[in-house]
This record gives sequence, structure tokens and C-alpha cells, in this order.
Amino acid sequence: MSTTSSPAEQPVLRDTIAGVRVADLARSHGTPLYVYDAEIIRRRCRDLAAWDTVRFAQKACSNLAVLALVRSEGVMVDAVSTGEIHRALAAGYAAHAAKAPATDGLPPVHPIVYTADIFDRESLDAVAKHGIHVNCGSADMIEQVAERVPGAEITLRVNPGFGHGHSQKTNTGGEGSKHGIWHGEIPEVLRRAEWAGLAVTGLHMHIGSGTDLAHLAEVAGALERVAGEIGRSLTTISAGGGLPVPYKPGEVHADLSGYFQLWDTTRRRLEDRFGHRLRLEIEPGRYLTAESGFVITEIRAVKKQGGRKYLLVDAGFNTLARPVLYGSYHPMSLCPQAGAASETLEEVAVGGPLCESGDIFTQTDGGFVATRPLPPAAVGDYLVIEIAGAYGFVMASNYNSKPLPAEVLVDGGKARLVRARQTPEDLVRGECV
Ligand SMILES: *Cc1c(COP(=O)(O)O)cnc(C)c1O
Repeated sequence: MSTTSSPAEQPVLRDTIAGVRVADLARSHGTPLYVYDAEIIRRRCRDLAAWDTVRFAQKACSNLAVLALVRSEGVMVDAVSTGEIHRALAAGYAAHAAKAPATDGLPPVHPIVYTADIFDRESLDAVAKHGIHVNCGSADMIEQVAERVPGAEITLRVNPGFGHGHSQKTNTGGEGSKHGIWHGEIPEVLRRAEWAGLAVTGLHMHIGSGTDLAHLAEVAGALERVAGEIGRSLTTISAGGGLPVPYKPGEVHADLSGYFQLWDTTRRRLEDRFGHRLRLEIEPGRYLTAESGFVITEIRAVKKQGGRKYLLVDAGFNTLARPVLYGSYHPMSLCPQAGAASETLEEVAVGGPLCESGDIFTQTDGGFVATRPLPPAAVGDYLVIEIAGAYGFVMASNYNSKPLPAEVLVDGGKARLVRARQTPEDLVRGECV
């Protein structure tokens, strides 16, 4: 694999992804190309085996092949839209829980949960038609679901009054967030649920992606207080998502066992109080797929703007939006077309093809163009943008009438196309003159 490390100790040269040559992937499927390493996804699912239920927040990476892969690992799924409900069903998930209690003495698990702050008309239809369990992020959803699914069991998503997130745009708690039911409103919301004839069986808090487990752990305390208000109808508590992954040099994986211990203690205290078992769920998106994903791009121009050197590649923020949206850092590595690259590094900015000055992969929060140390590159070399498996393809767009890229899943040394690149016909489908 990689042979050279930057001073920042991340590999800057890469020949293969999951044992398959980058150049072969690029030649077979074209660029820009999303590639996922199945084994990394499996490993991340297994890291969380201590939890009763791992529920994949599929919005991070919702390709059917990825959903089928996590399903084969026993992972359940979260859906935030009608489209995601359809994806979960298409990937083989059952719509609702089995009637028989689980053999482990825990309450039954909902294979698919619809989590949102609203029902649009389509999602309410889909939930009613398939009998999908609902996690309500607004009190108005209670009467809406009650009308269509009388006597339903529901989960409440509660905003504990504080939040977290790697940027203001990903913070999902506190007054600055639109998400969840405000913690102070719980007594009133419970009256509404009772009046509507619904049983509150689940409690869920998700305050957003962070890097700080101590902060994420505060949620456990807040959840315990709200659980006490809901009482014995509860069967399931969810810690939400937000497990971080290391993107930048020096960042490390979180202490998963410490995090689990903390939640398990909360769960056991509530079990003692209620006199029955509680299912403990975690709902990661990023954690399961981020590190599995790579974007292979081809360098199409190398130029100097005054004193600064730019590599221009065939992927843009239409392909991977996180840098322009959040100033996110993604590691990058070079795969030279011809022979070994020089070991010396030079500072370069990396941009894409879009007619927009923000189309820069090496930018910091606030949109400032930064640079990255990479080996000298030439037109025709491949540049691999790494840790792109979460909020990558799913945020890709057709801006500038660029087709969505293909997606490939590599498993056991074999690369399989799991989504074809869009065609020019796809780009104008449904339009007329
Ligand atoms: C996005 C989301 C998640 C996953 O967040 P990550 O930071 O990717 O782990 C979990 N639950 C809900 C409800 C979400 O909206």
C-alpha cells in the first residue's frame, strides 16, 4: 500500500484500495469514482457489538449494497425520508418487528425506524402502509400518526436543551437546533400522546457529530431524566449517533467501551426503576462508513496562480460537498500513472472543475484556500480523496449538469459496480422543451 508519509503522518502515496489497484478501478469505471472497502464497514459494525441494537443512520451512505452489507452484520436501519424507507425495504429489511419477543429477553426490535421532525404527505402514507415505527421529532406528528395508525407505539426524539456538532450546521441540540421535542415540553407531549391513544415506547436523543465523548455522554444524564417522566411504557432507549472518526493527522478513534459502559449504566438504572428490560440502541452514520470510502479522481490540470500551485481534478463539490459545506478536511493521496513519484513533497491547493470559486477541496472553515503537502503530480495521475464514505456520495449533486459518479464496493479483493455512473440521458430525464 502506501509507502510515503507526509510530515503529518498520513500516507501521501497509494497504489491500491482494499487490494485492488487504483489505476484498474479508474480504468474500469471511470473517474470521479466512489470506492468502498466492505471489510472496513464490517469491522466498524463489529466494533459496536456490545450494544443490543446498532441502527445505521443510512443518510450517511445509502447505496443498497451498503445497506445489504450492514444488514448481513445484524445492523438495523434508520430512515429520515420516504426514499430511505424504500431503500431499506429494497435492501431486504422487514418493515416492522417480529411478533415474538426476542430470544434474549429484550423487547422486540424495529428493523426500520422513521426519524424526522415532520411527516410530509408521502412519508405519512409510507409509514401507514408498511407499518414502520416512527420516532417523532415534533409533537404535531403525534396526532398525524394517530389518525392513520390508531394505537401505534412511538418513540420521542427529545432535544435536551444543549447540543454538539462539528459545525453549527451539524449541531442538533439546544435552542439553535430545530430538531427534536424540547425537553421542557415532555409532560404536555405525553398528555397529547395519551389523548391520541398512542403508547410511548421509545426515547431517543441525538445531538450531532462531535469529537468529544464527554459531551456526548451528557446526553445519557439528560435522557435518564426524561425517561423518568415517560415511565414504564418505555422499552427502548437510543443514544443517537455522533460517534466521531479521525479525519486529521493526530486524531484517534473514540473510547467505545467507555461510551458503552456509560450508557449501559444508565440503562441498568432505568431497568431497576421500571422492573423490566430495556433495549439499548446506538445510531451511528459516519462511524460505520466514513473510513471505508475513497473518491478516485484524475488530475486534469496543474497550474500556478502567482506563487500558489493548483491541482485541478475531475471531481468537484458536486462529487464531495463536505469541504465546501463545512470546511472539512479529507486526507489525500497520489497514485502516479507512470512509475514511482518523487519522495519530496510540495504544498498544493486542490480544486475541481465547477464554475465556482468555492470548488476547492483544500479549504478551511470560512472558505479560505489552504494547501496540502503532496508529491509532485502530473496530468493523468490519480488523486485519491480519503475517508469519504460518509456524507459523500449521498450529498453529490448534478450541479453544472455533471452526472452522479459510479459507486464500487470492493470485497475479498473483487470490485463490484453497485451504482452506474449517470448518463447524459439521466441528466435531462423528466424535462421537456
Ligand atoms: C444523522 C443522524 C445520525 C447519524 O449521525 P452521525 O453523526 O453520522 O453518526 C443519527 N441519528 C439521526 C436521527 C440522524 O439524523
